[in-house]
Amino acid sequence: MKKFDLKTKKLEYQERKKIKISVIEEESKKIKKIYNNKNISKEKIKNNHHIYIFSNLNDNLNYYNEENKYGCVGLYNLGNTCYMNSCLQILIHLPQFIYKFIDSAPEFFEKSTKPTPISNMFYELLSNISNNQITSFSPSNFKDSFTSIHQEFFGNLEHDTQEFCRFLLQDFNCELNEVVSPSSYKKELPRSNKKEMFFNYRKDCLSKEASLITDLFIGFFSFEYICECGYKEYTFSQFLDLPIQMNSSIGGFDLFQMLQNNFYKKSYVDMGENCSFCRRTSKKYENMKIALLPNILIISLQRTNPKNGMKNEASVKFYEGLDLSEIIDTEIQRTNSTKYKLFAISNHIGNINTGHYYSHIKIGQNWYCFEDSKVYKIGAQIDMNTKEVYTLFYKLKDY
Ligand SMILES: [Zn+2]
Repeated sequence: MKKFDLKTKKLEYQERKKIKISVIEEESKKIKKIYNNKNISKEKIKNNHHIYIFSNLNDNLNYYNEENKYGCVGLYNLGNTCYMNSCLQILIHLPQFIYKFIDSAPEFFEKSTKPTPISNMFYELLSNISNNQITSFSPSNFKDSFTSIHQEFFGNLEHDTQEFCRFLLQDFNCELNEVVSPSSYKKELPRSNKKEMFFNYRKDCLSKEASLITDLFIGFFSFEYICECGYKEYTFSQFLDLPIQMNSSIGGFDLFQMLQNNFYKKSYVDMGENCSFCRRTSKKYENMKIALLPNILIISLQRTNPKNGMKNEASVKFYEGLDLSEIIDTEIQRTNSTKYKLFAISNHIGNINTGHYYSHIKIGQNWYCFEDSKVYKIGAQIDMNTKEVYTLFYKLKDY
């Protein structure tokens, strides 16, 4: 993290204030215009502020489709907030997410009986950065809203971008959950039919939570326990990202190998409970696989050693294209696409508490670097074997 410098902070602050004011002025001008054109009551405009933002966003949707000179708006660092900016920029530049978000969010704000502060503020953020006049924007309203809910993020300490990302996606999932009254979808099934059991489990999950987050980011693991007597039992769980603990630091790592070692594995486990067939307590084999891949796959490299808090700075080789057909559970999915394309990475430099985050994001044919208020084009290639790569964002190739 850059050293704290009062003079530059003050300048940054004045700059931020200036931009905030210009954005508000710009907005009120547009609201007035809508008011005059459509002859709607002032009260209605006030209540439907998000609809105005929505139309404003729609006008600027090209922003997400193609590169243009306004396409990349930086986010000011509000004091160690690069962890937040790095993640926000990646979501902002993920059209599949943004389209769904602006498609569903306004309806939610309208009908939701529960508060949706994070989604509201994210919406406002989108609306502001889609304003062609600015090159950088201060996400202070968003941050205030986020920290009012997650108080551990309050203040100016550096935080983990992976943790922030998980919280944020969970907030969206919770706020924009389309299931009004969660039910339970339970069907008694023979314990031997893995595929049916899995799709039953998934239906049950979706009967409780269904949102743009479950559509886009949620994947599933399958676990198979094999008793010494040969009897098999299955369980499943959901994942929002694939966390990979980086243990040894001898030489470099290979992303595909790490995925294979962590999520397609067989190990001995002591279940501590009796086998429901032979009734003996015994050690079992556990087979872990990926039951269903998400449309957007997040891979979180866990560079911090949980024992001593030290950062593993080994380099990781990663790939623009990633085919996971070898590590999925073929008993459950055979026909689904398994080919991914890298579209963004969050990088981390320096040590855990004082480090700095920045993102590489592919827009059109080119990679861009987003580092707080600085945004610049890198070109068609980026280095894919680095010590700084921290979180990787892939999307299904044909998605
Ligand atoms: Zn048994």
